[in-house]
Amino acid sequence: MYNAASAKAEEFICHDEVMASLKYADDNKNNIQLIDSIIEKARLRKGLNHREASVLLACEIPEKIQEIYELAEQIKKDFYGNRIVMFAPLYLSNYCVNSCVYCPYHIKNKNITRKKLTQEEITKEVIALQDMGHKRLAIEAGEDPVNNPIEYILESIDTIYNIKHKNGAIRRVNVNIAATTVENYRRLKEAGIGTYILFQETYHKESYEKLHPMGPKHDYAYHTEAMDRAMEGGIDDVGLGVLFGLELYRYEYCALLMHAEHLEAVYGVGPHTISVPRIKHADDIDPGAFDNSISDEIFYKITALIRIAVPYTGMIISTRESEEVRERIIRLGVSQISGGSRTSVGGYTEEERPHDTEQFDVSDQRTLDEVVNWLMRNGYIPSFCTACYREGRTGDRFMALCKSGQIQNCCHPNALMTLKEYLMDYASEDTRRIGELLIQSELGNIPKENVRKICKENLENIQKGTRDFRF
Ligand code: SAM
Repeated sequence: MYNAASAKAEEFICHDEVMASLKYADDNKNNIQLIDSIIEKARLRKGLNHREASVLLACEIPEKIQEIYELAEQIKKDFYGNRIVMFAPLYLSNYCVNSCVYCPYHIKNKNITRKKLTQEEITKEVIALQDMGHKRLAIEAGEDPVNNPIEYILESIDTIYNIKHKNGAIRRVNVNIAATTVENYRRLKEAGIGTYILFQETYHKESYEKLHPMGPKHDYAYHTEAMDRAMEGGIDDVGLGVLFGLELYRYEYCALLMHAEHLEAVYGVGPHTISVPRIKHADDIDPGAFDNSISDEIFYKITALIRIAVPYTGMIISTRESEEVRERIIRLGVSQISGGSRTSVGGYTEEERPHDTEQFDVSDQRTLDEVVNWLMRNGYIPSFCTACYREGRTGDRFMALCKSGQIQNCCHPNALMTLKEYLMDYASEDTRRIGELLIQSELGNIPKENVRKICKENLENIQKGTRDFRF
């Protein structure tokens, strides 16, 4: 039976409830009166439940879809302004004991070179990332208790935080590793991680079990209840995601919202982020082998509908997507993007992009400087800010800030100051020129006068060489 507050995966992601919601959505996809009332509710910026949101996803009326897009853009602007937070993935190890049929790291893949970075190699990778200008990483690893035990992950985090090269510093490490125990989540929290990210891949239990035929990840309940254990272990910023293409997108969308409702019901705080990866080509992986791939148009619709259904959540898009898709999707709701990414173990220290240990093909192959430049030309402020979690603004404290509208007095100046650091230390001449103009014009958009004044002083101090200011 469906119960959002249950501790059991099959009750908070109840298959019957998903199916009933999809039927309700189908029955009402042309019910203009209902659709209008749901869009009106979404305008209150308090979100939608999975049933309401599923109706909008089923709706194919062009004018209504246009209304949804416009609302998503507006909500994105209201809560996240024109800031885009930058990050990069760092692949530590591709040893893996699982058998995920869509992932090249699966245990049976003998083509792929297996590699695990030593602490010295991590240092080199992180220096390369710092020299690009990154301040925020997401570490990635396959699941392998022998090669990649939690001690290895913890040691790597410690290494990463302690590398100080020129003006570089990694100030926030997010972690994307396999589902683990409450005790291990506690240790990750103590190591100072930002968000714990774990993609559900698919919420459809039967498909999940087929797509993960062997290994610890086969256990649907253990995987689906991971965020509950993370919360129990003290991690209150968790990142959800579905790998689109594995199952029917309407099923995934509905269940993803049920997962967010579950976290809200039990812990009083929804997901810190939601990622929207799509399956990509990789060694031994042909995305064409999966029947449920989604078109760009559907992808945009899903993104816009996540934005209006869960208005406070950060949304992440990786370099799996092309420049063109990223441009559109950022407008519709995405607040965080990666740039200059390499998805191979040890990829940042190689001159040429290596392919032999890659997790998936990267569509957007531009450098970080090119991405930063492009964002600014499109009217966005690339932000290297990591202040919230360093100031203890995590979980419901972050959400409260977001909901109060005070984010403009906090995130906005932080974005400008960290962009200034980037311009001073890493940017090309052209990027620096555009960035300086942008900072000058954006200073006027800080509502509180005293905050604006302090921000201006800090910018001058950054110009003189001081680093790491934050509100
Ligand atoms: N191994 C960890 C786990 O079990 O959750 C997570 C790390 S994995 C490096 C990160 C994510 O990449 C996976 O959760 C999956 O969704 C995604 N991924 C795997 N194969 C992919 C492919 N062929 N195309 C796009 N994304 C893929």
